[in-house]
Amino acid sequence: MRILILAGTTEAADLARRIAADARFDGRMSLAGRTVSPKPQALPARIGGFGGSGGLARYVMDNGIDVLVDATHPYAAQISRNAVIAAREANVPLLSVTRAPWTAVEGDRWQCVDSAEAAAECLGQTPRRAFLAMGRLDLAAFARNPVHRYLARTIDPPDTSTLLPPDIRIINDRGPFTEEHEHALLEREQIDIIVSKNSGGDATYGKIAAARRRDMPVVMIARPVKPAGITVASANDAYAWLGAQCDHVCRPSSLRGV
Ligand code: NAP
Repeated sequence: MRILILAGTTEAADLARRIAADARFDGRMSLAGRTVSPKPQALPARIGGFGGSGGLARYVMDNGIDVLVDATHPYAAQISRNAVIAAREANVPLLSVTRAPWTAVEGDRWQCVDSAEAAAECLGQTPRRAFLAMGRLDLAAFARNPVHRYLARTIDPPDTSTLLPPDIRIINDRGPFTEEHEHALLEREQIDIIVSKNSGGDATYGKIAAARRRDMPVVMIARPVKPAGITVASANDAYAWLGAQCDHVCRPSSLRGV
């Protein structure tokens, strides 16, 4: 069974490892190219956009893909919209790996907003030391609120063309980050508020747990609406679903239209 994984997450990397080790599958991955030096992957990877849903559908058809797997980041909504349209056009099943969001527990002081722009507004006009832990693509939104001192953590530096707030320091680091690591960082940097995406999963939850321990507010940017196909919650479940298709469907071509 030939599989294309739309990737960029831990779940995509986990699923790729399982597929690479299973002779029933012929897998490949696609990365957006947002990270300058992506981690080595277990499957051959192509990098960069397809040119919209039509380009993705063409890629699926031209390469004889039997199942399209959307294991992209919870905030990457456009590629998921494209995947739904492309799977329909190419008449292949779409399996979407949707990581559960974090939910607030007792002691959390979350303020939920709809966008990075709203998060910037939400910081108010009293100068604060804000930790932006939400990737580099949304940093420009904070240029509109220049009264604060910002610390941003990103995997790669922002593009030189990105408009940034005047008082910002960027540290480049890649998770996972433990609660202890995050607690120490918040203390060392004298942070008094965090801006985060609700990414879900364990790898970046440390800052949320550390904020709770420090009784620190978190501005939580809500997830966008992300269209999906057949939905599973983990790489494990995705692998099981793909295995079941392999075992119960005689010919890969008969998967089409499931
Ligand atoms: P997006 O808005 O969903 O995608 C924009 C375009 O990038 C897509 O239309 C597609 O281009 C291309 N693309 C995205 N994922 C792709 C993939 N796996 N393979 C090939 N092309 C892909 O996503 P985004 O612009 O990357 O990011 C949106 C938000 O998600 C940001 O807030 C970012 O921080 C977060 N995020 C994204 C990733 C990631 O790996 N993409 C990882 C972590 C966080 P075409 O239309 O040309 O095909």
